[in-house]
Amino acid sequence: MSATMPGADASQRFIFENTDIRGEIVRLHHSYLSCVQGKGYPDAVARLLGEFLAAASLLATTIKFEGRLVVQARSEGEIRVIMGECSSDGAIRGIARYEETPGSEQFSELLREGTLVITIDHRKGEPYQGIVSLEGNNVAEALQTYFSQSEQLGSVFYFASDRDTVAGLMLQQLPPQMEKDPEVRKGQWEHFSTLASTITDEELLSLPNADVLHRLYHQEELRVFPPRELHFACSCSRERTARALSALGREEVESIIAEQGGVEISCEFCGTEYNFGPGELHLLFESAEDGQSH
Ligand SMILES: [Zn+2]
Repeated sequence: MSATMPGADASQRFIFENTDIRGEIVRLHHSYLSCVQGKGYPDAVARLLGEFLAAASLLATTIKFEGRLVVQARSEGEIRVIMGECSSDGAIRGIARYEETPGSEQFSELLREGTLVITIDHRKGEPYQGIVSLEGNNVAEALQTYFSQSEQLGSVFYFASDRDTVAGLMLQQLPPQMEKDPEVRKGQWEHFSTLASTITDEELLSLPNADVLHRLYHQEELRVFPPRELHFACSCSRERTARALSALGREEVESIIAEQGGVEISCEFCGTEYNFGPGELHLLFESAEDGQSH
């Protein structure tokens, strides 16, 4: 897949005129590669992570918020945790954690007995979190189950991924506004979601958005919005790393320093290395202890 592929690292919204149905297409290339490079993920894990990134990107564009949206699965299977994040600024990052390198390509083995957690971390205010058991045979089915349990409105998702690119298509029913007749609404939803289901992985991965929409909906009245750019960026910082370090406890950290002369921590998302010398740790613990003494 070429780096100049149209619509890469962007999501694009469309609506069907005179209905309460909207859609979104996302395609990630550079941002996806930045998340998987150097991690040594097996193909199946990289592609799955890509779909979590695409899922987070699709959902982040459908709500008004400031902060980050995280789509995460935790499981008893070969992957312990996998998560994709997208911020309200379009910054993407993600990671998969496991103890032994997964050998399976099956969703049900990789994420056996899993839970799906969707978190909206608001920059100001309390986070929102929704948790359901992970159902279905892929990320799209798991999300559909999530939304069917939490909302009365229809949602469908399609994802396709390879080692270079990941793409997603979402259709969502909105509360009645343009069309209030429940029967008509139902008919519209069935019509548009059935057409969406005819998209193939190959088409979703390789066609520009305009061609995907033409292929699915050339007979419909569509309004297509300008694409929204997405990019890889990590929210790690020296301060956050220091806070994580202080959670180990003073004794533990002091013993590492005694042995190694300092502590080196690298961010598991982006690989940035943070080094703390003995003097800095001293300050760190004093300020952490001050913070707790209230
Ligand atoms: Zn980082």
